[in-house]
Formats: sequence, C-alpha cells, structure tokens
Amino acid sequence: MGLFSDMEKLGLGSYSDAEVIEKNNNTRNINSNVEQAAKQLERKEEDYIFDKKYTCPVCDIGFTSKCVKSGKIKLSGHDTDLRPTYEFMDPLKYDVVACSYCGYASLVRYYGRLSMRQIKEIKAGIGSRFKGLPDIEGAYSYDDAITRHKLAILCSMVKGAKNGERAYTCLKTAWVLRGKMQTLDKNSSEYRELSDSEMDCIKNAYEGFVLAISNEPFPIAGMDESTLKYIMADLARKLKRYEESARLLASVLTSKATNHRLKDAALDLKELIKKDVANDRN
Ligand SMILES: [Zn+2]
Repeated sequence: MGLFSDMEKLGLGSYSDAEVIEKNNNTRNINSNVEQAAKQLERKEEDYIFDKKYTCPVCDIGFTSKCVKSGKIKLSGHDTDLRPTYEFMDPLKYDVVACSYCGYASLVRYYGRLSMRQIKEIKAGIGSRFKGLPDIEGAYSYDDAITRHKLAILCSMVKGAKNGERAYTCLKTAWVLRGKMQTLDKNSSEYRELSDSEMDCIKNAYEGFVLAISNEPFPIAGMDESTLKYIMADLARKLKRYEESARLLASVLTSKATNHRLKDAALDLKELIKKDVANDRN
C-alpha cells in the first residue's frame, strides 16, 4: 500500500503509488501524475451526455441525438419564468431530437408522435430542401442547440402542431438563447441580437399559450393550469403587458390548486411587476 493509496476518495487515485522523494532524479513521473490528476478533476460536458439512437419516423433512417445522463446533473435554481439552471452545464441544450438527414426535429416530449398527414407535410416542407445537420463531436455548442431548437419550431409550424406545442417549443428556445447570452458581454452586438431573438420567442410563446389555454385540455406541455399561468404572467411582464400579467397572477394566487412554493413565487413576481411598472414610468 502506498502512502497515498487512500487518497482515491478525494479523486486523487492517480497518486496512489507516487513517491515523495525523487530517488532517480526523475521529475517526470510526478509531473505526469499531476497532469493525469488534473485531467481527472476537469469536468467535461461530454462526460454528462451520451448518443441515443433513434429511427426517424419521417425518413426511416437511423440517427443519433445527444442526451443528458439523468441523475448526473444538479439543479442550482430557476429564473422568474421557471427556466431551470444547473451546476456546471446547461442540459437544456439537449432537449431537442433532430434527424440529421431530413430535418425532422421536436422537443423530446413531442418526438415521434406524427400522423401520416404530418409526415407528408414535414417531408414536403422541410425534408425536400433540407441540407443535413453536421455531425457534432462531443458536446453541443449553444449555436448547435439554437439551430436544433429553431428547426423544432419550424417543424411544429409545418406539421400544424397545437398551439401549446408551438408555444412550449418557443419558450424552450428562449431559454437556450438566454443560456448563450449569459456567456456573452452585455454590450456586444451578438448579445443584443440574441436578446431580440429571445423576445421574439417569448412573444410567440405567450401568444401561443393564450390560445392554448382556451382550446386545449390541461396538462399543456406537461404543466398544470397554475404553473402555466404563472409562467405566462412572467412572459407578459417581460413583454410589458402588465395588466394581463396581473390578471394571470391573480388567477394563480386565488386558485386552490396552486401549491405553496408557486404561490410564494407568484408573490415575488407581483413585487417585480410593481418595480417594472415604476421603472417604466421613470
Ligand atoms: Zn429523418
């Protein structure tokens, strides 16, 4: 047993046979151990994802799409519109499954549920002109993820998806755009462009959800009425539609079905709206 054999519990197993004193005047061993240990400690996004195999329901060709290993990532918080944030990486980048051959793409939740009519529409509207997605080695960049999300929005339009699906796909796209924005300087032109795109997605998401709640049964995009109305209230706030936002929040706060955590978030949001209204007046 080497002196450091129990250091494995600290993630330093590569030191288990290391010698403290250099007998051979050879510094290379310890250096290579240091390098090896540094490599082990370096967390790579690639280690948190895997390639999942799919057969495309539109073109029948097998393809792989990257997925996040469940249970490996840790939630760190959420934004006011309930966009979840995680430690170390942003798994939201991987929420779209996209066929790299014909361009059929959707959020994982909606993937593969297609009627014959929709398959024809995607072939005609996307597949016939689609040039293919490049193979990605390792993790998706934000740009890879944004492309896939935009493709999913296009497919939801072409296949005539319900407004709930279109709106939710726009919301998830806004969240990925925001993820990239958080890596950029706020004064850069790219930040401003992405911010405009994010607001476009938020507007489409809000308007789609307004139609969805009057026409579609709950759950919509897996959300109960209180959760969706809370998110809509925040989207309306971002769009400066404060009266609509306040009306939605009142509905969340008075509903018996709203849980305590969401009620607390709704009260916080109410305060935020007051601040935004005051700021807009100045
Ligand atoms: Zn395909």
